Amino acid sequence: DAGGGYGGGGLEEVRVPDIGDFDDVPVIEVLVRPGDTIRAEDSLITLESDKASMDVPAPKAGRVAEVLVAVGDRVSQGTPILMLEAEGAAHAATPAAAQAAEPPAAVPAPTAASYAGGADLECEMLVLGAGPGGYSAAFRAADLGMKTVLVERYGSLGGVCLNVGCIPSKALLHVAAVTDAANAMADHGIAFGKPKIDLDKLRGWKEKVVGKLTGGLAGMAKARKVEVVRGVGTFLDPHHLEVALTGGDGQEPTGAKQVIKFGKCIIAAGSQSVKLPFIPDDSRVVDSTGALKLTTIPKRMLVIGGGIIGLEMATVYSTLGTRIDVVEMLDGLMAGADRDLVKVWEKVNQPRFDKVMLKTRTTAVKAQKNGLKVSFEGEGAPAEPQLYDMILQAVGRSPNGHKIGAENAGVAVDERGFIATDKQMRTNVGHIFAIGDIVGQPMLAHKAVHEAHVAAEAAAGHKSFFDARQIPSVAYTDPEVAWAGKTEAECKAEGIKYGKAVFPWAASGRAIANGRDEGFTKLIFDEETHRIIGGAIVGTQAGDLISELCLAIEMGCDPVDIGKTIHPHPTLGESVGMAAELFEGVCTDLPPQKKR
Ligand code: FAD
Repeated sequence: DAGGGYGGGGLEEVRVPDIGDFDDVPVIEVLVRPGDTIRAEDSLITLESDKASMDVPAPKAGRVAEVLVAVGDRVSQGTPILMLEAEGAAHAATPAAAQAAEPPAAVPAPTAASYAGGADLECEMLVLGAGPGGYSAAFRAADLGMKTVLVERYGSLGGVCLNVGCIPSKALLHVAAVTDAANAMADHGIAFGKPKIDLDKLRGWKEKVVGKLTGGLAGMAKARKVEVVRGVGTFLDPHHLEVALTGGDGQEPTGAKQVIKFGKCIIAAGSQSVKLPFIPDDSRVVDSTGALKLTTIPKRMLVIGGGIIGLEMATVYSTLGTRIDVVEMLDGLMAGADRDLVKVWEKVNQPRFDKVMLKTRTTAVKAQKNGLKVSFEGEGAPAEPQLYDMILQAVGRSPNGHKIGAENAGVAVDERGFIATDKQMRTNVGHIFAIGDIVGQPMLAHKAVHEAHVAAEAAAGHKSFFDARQIPSVAYTDPEVAWAGKTEAECKAEGIKYGKAVFPWAASGRAIANGRDEGFTKLIFDEETHRIIGGAIVGTQAGDLISELCLAIEMGCDPVDIGKTIHPHPTLGESVGMAAELFEGVCTDLPPQKKR
């Protein structure tokens, strides 16, 4: 069913059902908005009595035309909640899990092809792409009893994240952090001298880390009887995929082909780095994959793009001795993070950079013998073109949606290559799901893995939905910058009334003992519900510390829940509890506060 649209339902009023003891109880959260597409059983509102809280589920699937309640309203059985544009009667008869197969995209669905040939292999579940999304989906599907085939063009599993992304970058960032920390010890009376860098050994260590993890995945696939087929997959129709088999180190075609017939499919074909069109093909111009190869340590490097990937690689190279310039079109680095966090990072990292050119574009790059000559335009542009030994392009990643023959399967792909899905990760074609970078932002491994589990479970008929309140982001720079849930900028843009508490690490015993007290921990609470809706940490190990905020946001904690939780002393994690106490006005680790 690649067709679209909601069949002929009119507007229906959805009312509060019989909710037992709940009578005249306040609405503490409204979970849907006009225009939202909802499934039967999706939560609509959350009510809270003095005894417990409960979610009111949707009685059927449809589109929300109007929301009739607001946070703070008191409701009882029969109170109207919203007006629903219900689906056609045919859909209403299907089970809840299957109802999620509504076409999610505004993109017109292509007409699927039809393949009449034979198949070399048959399976219940085919997963295309073995990144964190793909292998997690395949393993979960196999654990749920489905005969699963995993198609991957490269020889090792793990996709971008394990091979050329999260893991190798963190292996190098760890080396950089230890090196920087060792250098800093001179201030505390211990001097190690200038580090000696053995680039081959460092590269070898990074490769060993990657190999350990990807080898582990191959073993786990075997243990689950997930059949791995190595090659480039292209859809032939909604139930067949052709795989051009590959070999060697990369994706060299062997010339052989295999056709796989599948019952269900999860597309997890990921993304690749964007290349700027005017940049010459030159070995000194690299993307993140090239930078992670660590072939040389350039004297001067230009990082194009001041996002997380660019800044992480800048950290590694600058610790190894490279002087760095960064050019960014936007008016700030690390887009997405609140500016107060970025400011702390900037202050510490200033010495790494010669120039940080904001609101500036690269307009031309000329490959010369003595280097790459780069011209700039914009507010931060230097008067003269600059010469670099290396350029790192880190201007974003684009999804692989247009490279898999999705149209033959009838799967709608938007202009940029993204595949839209519903909350069960279903595409417009009911038995084909999509997950990970290919379905949209944020392009992060942990998002891909959670979507993978939902897709595999939904394919197995479970009522799983991707309904996260927060997806954390971390820049593994030094200091680390981490945030989860709503940022202050998002609260302002969405008109959410919020209160915040910021605990400065200058008052944290552990941060001071570590000689790293520049950071802070910030909690953001909804003024109406008093629950935590976001938070952020800048400081060493912020990426590990943020997990507590993730859990607190998902659990709907209030400041008392967090502040009264006993945190171990002396730790950086204590700062989370202290920030919550600060919000409540009961913190004794800071000078007395004004009453809220
Ligand atoms: P991918 O990992 O892109 O995997 C897709 C797989 O599909 C690939 O193996 C590809 O070869 C295969 N494939 C594609 N098309 C076909 C085809 N037609 N046939 C066969 N196989 C195919 N995220 C984090 O959460 N934390 C981090 O610290 C982090 N650091 C990063 C650092 C760098 C330098 C980069 C580049 C990315 C980083 N990311 C990080 C992002 C993270 O790597 C991605 O979000 C994640 O890998 C996406 O997973 P995925 O399964 O959607 O796709």
